[in-house]
Amino acid sequence: MELFQLSRANDVQDAIKAGAASHTAQQGADVRFLAGGTTLLDLMKLNVERPGRVVDISRLPLNGVDALPDGGVKIGATARNADLAHHALIRDAYPVLSQALLAGASAQLRNMATTGGNLLQRTRCVYFRDNAMACNKREPGSGCAAISGFNRTQAILGVSDACIASNPSDMNVALTALEAVVHIQGTRGARSVAIDDFFLLPGTTPERETVLEPGDLITHVTLPPPAEGSRSLYSKLRDRASYEFALASAAVVVTVTGGRVSHARIALGGVGTKPWRSREAEAALVGAPPDTASFRRAAVDALAGARPQSGNGFKVELAQRCLVHALTLATSAA
Ligand code: SF4
Repeated sequence: MELFQLSRANDVQDAIKAGAASHTAQQGADVRFLAGGTTLLDLMKLNVERPGRVVDISRLPLNGVDALPDGGVKIGATARNADLAHHALIRDAYPVLSQALLAGASAQLRNMATTGGNLLQRTRCVYFRDNAMACNKREPGSGCAAISGFNRTQAILGVSDACIASNPSDMNVALTALEAVVHIQGTRGARSVAIDDFFLLPGTTPERETVLEPGDLITHVTLPPPAEGSRSLYSKLRDRASYEFALASAAVVVTVTGGRVSHARIALGGVGTKPWRSREAEAALVGAPPDTASFRRAAVDALAGARPQSGNGFKVELAQRCLVHALTLATSAA
């Protein structure tokens, strides 16, 4: 781990100022906000993240989970994953989010990890975490060791010739199916970004993963009210039962009216370079009967753009089965 400056922010404006000041005062020195630290500190110890300055935001009053007048929910950026998963507002109205959170990491990590940190969770690509290996995400222009190397766990959707790393988060998949909005404050004021626009595809710049600019601070996330009559569910397939990242996962929010699917929101995890919203699957489902044949058609559509590598072709069928399974369970009592 390299030397860095550590400061603690007293309020949101203080944090933003500290972030911006670091960028102007120290050329090339990045600032990182520290909340739970479950990703950042790991990567700093590996010398993958080498910030010149770390600003502790863990004591800012951003950890609330509150009902909104429109029936939605506001989730503070430093709300802990464990608190969020067990919060009555989330458990009752957004079960897909509660299930996704509880499917992620270990109980100890969920006690520390935060909503904002989870949005910024970095890939588990083994080459990204190893400074001796070529990695365009860690060292732009150095190449991608995964494309010709071990790529069993990498993405098959949204990949580029520069990077095929999968987004590792479970929470982000559920937030995508729920059409969450990410609220950001920076030196130029506040702005809100739909979650599907918050994450960037790797393209030729895989080092840039979100729309955040230097000094930007995520303050909270909002969820719209649950669609009337909808049921939601998260299904995760992995190599072992706990403390493991998804090989494939599916978050579904679906409404059945009069024997037909009237509303569907579908997101996939473990297979995309970002949490993967599948509008193709949603379009295939709406108007169709909630049966295995319809679910299978939607799943095939969801994976139609897949570009597997030498070691992860199995993910196409796995993700399709995962989505069919999630839709079957979510609609079984509808
Ligand atoms: Fe790096 Fe992406 Fe290639 Fe992994 S897949 S080695 S993160 S460029």
